[in-house]
Amino acid sequence: MLDTVQAATPMKPSLDEKALARALSGHHFIGGRFVAPRSGTSFAVVNPATGHEVARAAEGDADDVDAAVQDAARAQKEWARMPARKRGALVAQCAGVIREHVEELARLIALETGKALRTESRVEANTVADVLEFFGGLGSELKGESVPFAPGVLSVTVREPLGVVGAIIPWNVPLLLMSLKIAPALVAGNTVVVKSAEEAPLTVLRICELMARVLPAGCFNMLSGFGPECGAPLVAHPKVRKVTFTGSVEVGRIVAKAAAERLIPTTLELGGKSPMLIFADCDFEATLAGAVTSMRFTRQGQSCTAASRIYVERPIFDRFVAELAKRVDAMVMGDPLDEKTDIGTIISTEQLAKVRGFIDEGCATAGATGRACSAMPTDPALANGLFIQPHIFTGLSNDSRLVRQEIFGPVTCVFPFDDVETVLAEANDSEYGLAASVWTNNLKVGLDLAHRLEAGLVQINQNLVVQANLSYGGVKSSGLGKEASLESMLEHFMHKKTIMVKYT
Ligand code: ADP
Ligand code: MG
Repeated sequence: MLDTVQAATPMKPSLDEKALARALSGHHFIGGRFVAPRSGTSFAVVNPATGHEVARAAEGDADDVDAAVQDAARAQKEWARMPARKRGALVAQCAGVIREHVEELARLIALETGKALRTESRVEANTVADVLEFFGGLGSELKGESVPFAPGVLSVTVREPLGVVGAIIPWNVPLLLMSLKIAPALVAGNTVVVKSAEEAPLTVLRICELMARVLPAGCFNMLSGFGPECGAPLVAHPKVRKVTFTGSVEVGRIVAKAAAERLIPTTLELGGKSPMLIFADCDFEATLAGAVTSMRFTRQGQSCTAASRIYVERPIFDRFVAELAKRVDAMVMGDPLDEKTDIGTIISTEQLAKVRGFIDEGCATAGATGRACSAMPTDPALANGLFIQPHIFTGLSNDSRLVRQEIFGPVTCVFPFDDVETVLAEANDSEYGLAASVWTNNLKVGLDLAHRLEAGLVQINQNLVVQANLSYGGVKSSGLGKEASLESMLEHFMHKKTIMVKYT
């Protein structure tokens, strides 16, 4: 056990992702240390590119949750007393340690999630450092206000941390989504217990030891385990004062209900079915390139903001679809750890079956065409890999399950349109409202649509992924609350206390 713990904490970055995965096996991270689960049980972490087990993950339960939360609650008192700028400086210092380990983290993400190293995993690891640096610089921004009340009375508000924050994260961009929660929570003076996703527990666990080189013990704790057995007790724990969750709408509702029962605030980042509206007057080549990145096929479409409904003005519809399919065809699907690879694997057999179900249904729909793009890998070592060809569908109607539900796979539905009002109505005809983009050189049309599209984020002539400093979060079933910005830190990780002083 001791050997394993030491092996999991190399002083130098380890580029042997398999050895690192083995060394991380069977641990939570509580109170600044790797610890075994109270129950002694674990579950398999599988490399989705080969089907091989690469590690065991500690199976957390209510006892582990209690240990982690108690530790976080103890650490929080001290942490909150530290000057805010000092807390920020420590969080920014974590960014530095992470930057030194980007390659190591990127390889480990690729191993456990099947996301390609060059197009996704390395990008994610770098973004994490950026997020920590951004929030680390905001320590002096935790300001309150002075409030005019009465002569002789000084009335001010001060912002205070909430206490222990429970953070529940998914597997698609585990490191980035974790950083968007822990960085603002910590800078605001809270301590955190993270529950990782069962499919991707390793890289987020690896980061614990890197951050523990800088942060006081107990500020940042990590548990792995299943939703009902480990996530639910975290939400229910009496010392957890706030829950921030990213995942499915279905589980988001469960979490929100449990949090409502306890009267604690929640931030929910849920699904999406993001539309992309393309007008004939757009810059064709730039829009085509934008569509390729917007569909997030390099992440196998496993992105809440993926452009999964693309509406193209009729004069350029046929040409656009043909060119789009050609571009995706040119993408290389293969070993996630190979630098040549653009597209890796789906996360799990369960997800693969779900995505395949959608594709089969689309292909069997009368009048619909599903173009299968990009070649399956031929390397025998990848024969059991969870690869699937990206599909671009045309001819589906708005009531198809493929158009209404979030697929979370490399599937996009493309539709022609003739006028602005109809396409706006179609784009807004969705349970979701996370992101949208409009592509046109007519900014009058673009800005009008930006105001009328029901989404938390609308971009014109670009479609970037979530960025530090920009409020991110959906409307309708896509979620509650914002992340990634100063305002999100102030509103969601702190409360405002009023202090009044009668001085005459
Ligand atoms: P996905 O469909 O992407 O797997 P989920 O919503 O199922 O998304 O899972 C997101 C996170 O929520 C995971 O960490 C999962 O373990 C956790 N989770 C699942 N069920 C519950 C629950 N009942 N209470 C708290 N967390 C849960
Ligand atoms: Mg799940």
